[in-house]
Parts: sequence; C-alpha cells; structure tokens
Amino acid sequence: MTKLALITGANKGIGYEISLELSKKGFTVLLGARDAQRGEAAAAQIKKEGGDAIYLSLDVSNEDSVRQAKDWVQEKYGKLDVLVNNAGIISHKGLVEVETEEVKNTMETNFYGPMRMNHYFIPLLKKGSSAKIINISSGMGALDDLHGGYAAYRLSKAGLNAQTILLANELKSTGIKVFAVCPGWVKTDMGGQGASRPVEKGAETPVWLATTEEGLTGKFYRDKKVIAY
Ligand code: NAP
Repeated sequence: MTKLALITGANKGIGYEISLELSKKGFTVLLGARDAQRGEAAAAQIKKEGGDAIYLSLDVSNEDSVRQAKDWVQEKYGKLDVLVNNAGIISHKGLVEVETEEVKNTMETNFYGPMRMNHYFIPLLKKGSSAKIINISSGMGALDDLHGGYAAYRLSKAGLNAQTILLANELKSTGIKVFAVCPGWVKTDMGGQGASRPVEKGAETPVWLATTEEGLTGKFYRDKKVIAY
C-alpha cells in the first residue's frame, strides 16, 4: 500500500510545499484545508505536477471537523503513516497589551489544533508503518528565545514543543516518532516577503523527517539538526 501523509493547513505556504514534495516522493497526500475552494485548487495543482493529492476538509480549531476527517480517513484507508501539524496563525502583540481572547484564539489553532489532530489520528498512525508526527513549531517558542512581542504565538509554540516531548515519551513503545520543527523565517503570507528563506527551504526538514529513519523522537529540529527547546 502506498504511504499516506496528512498535512494540515496545506492549501498554501509551507504546508503546500511539504505536500508537493511528499507527493513527488510517492506519498498519497491528504491535503487538509479549511476552505474547500482553496483546498481543491491546491490538490488539483499537485495532481497537475504528477502527484497524488486529495483535498480533505479540515479546520483544526473545530472538534467536529477533525473527528469527521478522521472518520473519512479511517473508512477509506484504515491507517495513516505521516501526520504533519502545520496549520498556524500569528499574533503580534506583547503579553502586556494582548487580550486574553486573542491568546485563546491563537491557542485554539496552534496548540489545541495539533492536540486534537493527534488525539484522533494516533489510532490510525498505530496502523501505519514507520509512523511519524511532525509538529511545525517555531524558534520563537524556544525557552531561550522568549523576547518580547508575539506573546500568544510564542506561548502557543512553546506549548506545542512541550506536547512534542510528552507525546514522544508516551508513544515510545508504539514506534511512532514525534518531532517539532522550526522551518526558519520563510517567505509566505505569514513570514512576509522580507523573510530570508524560500518556501522550499522551510519544507526541507519536515520532508526529510517524514522520509528518513534518522530522526530522534522527541527532539526539536531546524535544518536537519537538533536545536534547544
Ligand atoms: P501561511 O502561509 O499563513 O499558511 C498557514 C496555513 O494554515 C494556511 O493554509 C491556513 O489556511 C492554515 N490555517 C490557519 N488556521 C487554520 C485552521 N484553523 N484549520 C486549518 N488550517 C488553518 O503560513 P506558513 O508560513 O506557511 O506557516 C505554516 C506553519 O509554519 C505555521 O505553523 C507557522 O507557525 C510555522 N512557521 C512559519 C514561519 C515563517 O516564517 N513563515 C516561521 C516559523 C514557523 P487559510 O488559507 O484558510 O488561512
């Protein structure tokens, strides 16, 4: 059976590039997106480039949406090999001025989103081969890098990093590996055009971790190297 990868927030940016690259490596890609038109268009583009991509309706901030996506994958494939928790939103304000509502909103996507996805998809990953969870995090959530500003975003990514360690430990006996990745500062709608890296560079380490057996479970990676949490 072909390898099956699910990428959240895959209609554009780093998520789209990870989907394209994995499809080129022979994966069937389930392209998760919250907007049907944008998701269908992205899947069609990957197919045009010779890959196998299927749009999957998925809003990671919505419990019902995640459960329905899991039911669909379970029914159609009965397994999952790679889950990339990529969907994310940014928030600029510092902790002094940010409203609690904005923190909750950011957490809903960046922190509870991956938690929900993992909860529902781990039973399918247990049926996959060399299964992996790749959490797209950020160096902005690293404990030594909590400079001011972007408070909700930094807290959400620091929390995602902690989830990575916890989950890796809980899943050790299953063989499912769990990683956090910082893609660097990447030219996307989120990173802006002034960013230092092309989207291909941002996708490089997640794609490598999805396809190699070299990755160390529970670790935080950038440019294929372990970095400090
Ligand atoms: P992007 O271009 O803004 O793309 C974000 C993607 O996430 C979009 O497809 C967006 O969908 C989707 N998304 C947002 N909320 C969602 C939800 N509730 N459910 C499902 N999908 C949702 O950003 P990016 O730069 O590619 O970022 C991807 C990941 O890399 C994020 O986790 C981000 O924090 C991380 N990252 C990026 C940088 C950077 O410099 N770009 C640096 C470090 C880490 P819509 O199109 O519908 O909005």
